[in-house]
Amino acid sequence: MSADLRLYNSLTRTVEAFQPREAKRVGMYSCGPTVYNHAHIGNFRSFLYGDLLRRTLRHFGFSVTSVMNFTDVDDKTIRGSRAAGEGLRAFTDRHITEFRRDMEILNITPHDEQPRATDHIPEMVALIGKLIGKGLAYVSGNGADSGSVYFRVAALPDYGKLSHLDKEGLKPGARVAQDEYEKETLGDFALWKAWTEDDGDVAWESPWGKGRPGWHIECSAMAMRYLGEELDLHCGGIDLLFPHHENEIAQSEGATGRPFARCWGHSAHLLVDSQKMSKSLGNLFTVRDVEAKGFTGRQLRYVLVKTHYRQSLNFTWAELEAASTALTRVDNWIVRWKAESPERFMVTHPDGKAFLDAFSAALADDLNISGALGHLFDFIRETNNLMDQKKPLPDLPAIWEKIDAVLGLGILKTEIPPEIAALGEERLAARAAKDWKKSDAVRDELARLGWSVRDSAKGQELVKK
Ligand SMILES: [Zn+2]
Repeated sequence: MSADLRLYNSLTRTVEAFQPREAKRVGMYSCGPTVYNHAHIGNFRSFLYGDLLRRTLRHFGFSVTSVMNFTDVDDKTIRGSRAAGEGLRAFTDRHITEFRRDMEILNITPHDEQPRATDHIPEMVALIGKLIGKGLAYVSGNGADSGSVYFRVAALPDYGKLSHLDKEGLKPGARVAQDEYEKETLGDFALWKAWTEDDGDVAWESPWGKGRPGWHIECSAMAMRYLGEELDLHCGGIDLLFPHHENEIAQSEGATGRPFARCWGHSAHLLVDSQKMSKSLGNLFTVRDVEAKGFTGRQLRYVLVKTHYRQSLNFTWAELEAASTALTRVDNWIVRWKAESPERFMVTHPDGKAFLDAFSAALADDLNISGALGHLFDFIRETNNLMDQKKPLPDLPAIWEKIDAVLGLGILKTEIPPEIAALGEERLAARAAKDWKKSDAVRDELARLGWSVRDSAKGQELVKK
């Protein structure tokens, strides 16, 4: 690939050349879901950002080892399992199955490892022990949380380097009355939580007594277990940057004395109708909700991927309809070139190389996906023209294979003949230009050929009469 991949690094707050420790190998960790409910489309925006990033890394020739965890023990999973009257394992199993289904529907590439926190308690206990040994953590001696272990933030001078935190508020002088907790300072966070009645039968033995790990230590332990002490890339949604990722850095670097992750990537928020998603506003949607409205995972994937990951994304149903139209355009184009005979395709066609270079250059610029898609739609228009004029074509099957490895849109299994697809495309173009006379004429032509056109929430559909 001609262009070098450049990515925004939250740690340095600049777009920089992406350089893993070994030239072409990437160890990448993404924070996964807490498995206590259906993940919503905002969560999936972040997981799809990770997917696009992995696919792009592979497009640029990197071999990627990708790890994403399941948080299957924390306050929410324990509360949920008790409310459902189920054991923690059975309860989280159900949500993991549901999550894997959604991943498949959205065509998210499976991760190489998807560890569960509860399968790695010994690693977490060992890591906490190491931090206590170094004076970076302490056991709470009395109070309601006796037997809990906290990270001593004041002992790590560069704490806050990822979030560029103003540490004044965390200093011992700022200590506020804490009736129940025996933390030394406000910013100290739990590595191990002593068992309380609310935990029911969820508990593991440790040198500090019965309890369970804190959320942050889960990720540090699992990331290092599968990827070693230094990661090339760590990503997640922007809401995880502080305190979660800051604390992962503190625990990991505190224990190893080495830089934890070279590059940190964060995706921006998803809004629904310009508002923050929330249960009370009734605008919190899951993949199943989107399917229930008649849309496909492929259409949802397109909507969630097509906005640059560092821009907040405003989800609307109209956006999904627009996505359907864009995908129909892609599908019609594919149907047409699939019907071309193989000798029409020229591997050396200059338009093919120019397009691939432009597509790659856009992605190389911190995953400029809107630029990459813009090039694709230009290319579709140009090659549709070449097909109209019966001129030689770039090697479209090979080009599509390359770019769809990044986009993950797949090919719609459709039985529409190419000349019908071409007319469908003509009608879409006429409608885009508000040329209603032309669009009606094309509809009549399609009807004469035995095809009807339906404009639905799913976009333009061609149906054989
Ligand atoms: Zn995490």
